Amino acid sequence: MLMRWLWARVIWSGPGWYRILKREPCSPVYRPDAMLDMADLPIARREIFAGKGYLLTNTLQTTRGCPFDCEFCSVTAFYGRKYRERPVEQVLAELEVLCKQNSFAFFVDDNLVANRRYALSLFSAMKGMGFKWLSHAPIDFAGDPELMRAAGESGCIGMFVGFESLNQESLVAMGKVTNQATSYLEQAKVFRDHGIGILGSFVLGSDGDTPAIFEPILRFCEAARIEAAIFPILTPYPGTKVRERLETEGRITSNDWRDYDMGHVNFIPRGMSAAELQAGHDWLNRSFYSFSSMYRRIFKLHRSVQVFAPMNFGFRSAIRRTAKVMV
Ligand code: SF4
Repeated sequence: MLMRWLWARVIWSGPGWYRILKREPCSPVYRPDAMLDMADLPIARREIFAGKGYLLTNTLQTTRGCPFDCEFCSVTAFYGRKYRERPVEQVLAELEVLCKQNSFAFFVDDNLVANRRYALSLFSAMKGMGFKWLSHAPIDFAGDPELMRAAGESGCIGMFVGFESLNQESLVAMGKVTNQATSYLEQAKVFRDHGIGILGSFVLGSDGDTPAIFEPILRFCEAARIEAAIFPILTPYPGTKVRERLETEGRITSNDWRDYDMGHVNFIPRGMSAAELQAGHDWLNRSFYSFSSMYRRIFKLHRSVQVFAPMNFGFRSAIRRTAKVMV
């Protein structure tokens, strides 16, 4: 009986057991023959998170890939440039389940609005569901008032936005084709006018960056009232174009993956020393999450403050904890 059960398990479990029994070595990297069809994406088993203290488990993905190809970005290395959408009906079915637990959702897409027609149909269908949600969009989303209005009306209260740099030459060099630095202030205001807060991202350490970049970034964030931000140090992740270039130029200084957390310098910067880059990054984080800067940026009447005020306090305490560990 036991043997019958065991064989039934072996046959049922398929190639994994077969490999063990045949003593076939496991592969260090498994590569798919083709990208997953988004219609085959299963609904996540969120019940496994119960009792584990997670702040939010209402995360879901509607699209994968990005049509752009920024030099530093690992998204296209991982998901490819072909933008793939999950059928809207399937997303709505998952949202119906989620709204029973929590009316807050985070679409973890890397660029939710790359296919305008898809995004518009998703936002229109979500209108009235009562969700408040966050996701990612490029800054030029501000140039599409109809789509932005639909996002706001469907409950969007914040977007992760990659500003990356205030220097247009650096933006061009990194391939950030969606960004015009001279339009940032005006575009940030459009987000705010639609009730959509911004979690901005600025990559530090591009070849055009010098020690003079840090203070203007802080001043810009305050002038534009950027609700929250991250300031990642340029990190040459495997598969990215920037890694290929820095490797060719002999500028990678560490392959210790523990330091590949966007808070450590793992390459030789061009416009400043590694120590200056690290110090500028640390200063910017401390200054941005100081009480005075938080006051200037977020304590104005705006519907996104409900999410961004706690987010600021969360980032602030995480930065202070990290600083203590490093002392
Ligand atoms: S940084 Fe954003 S826009 Fe650029 S490739 Fe990555 S996901 Fe796409």
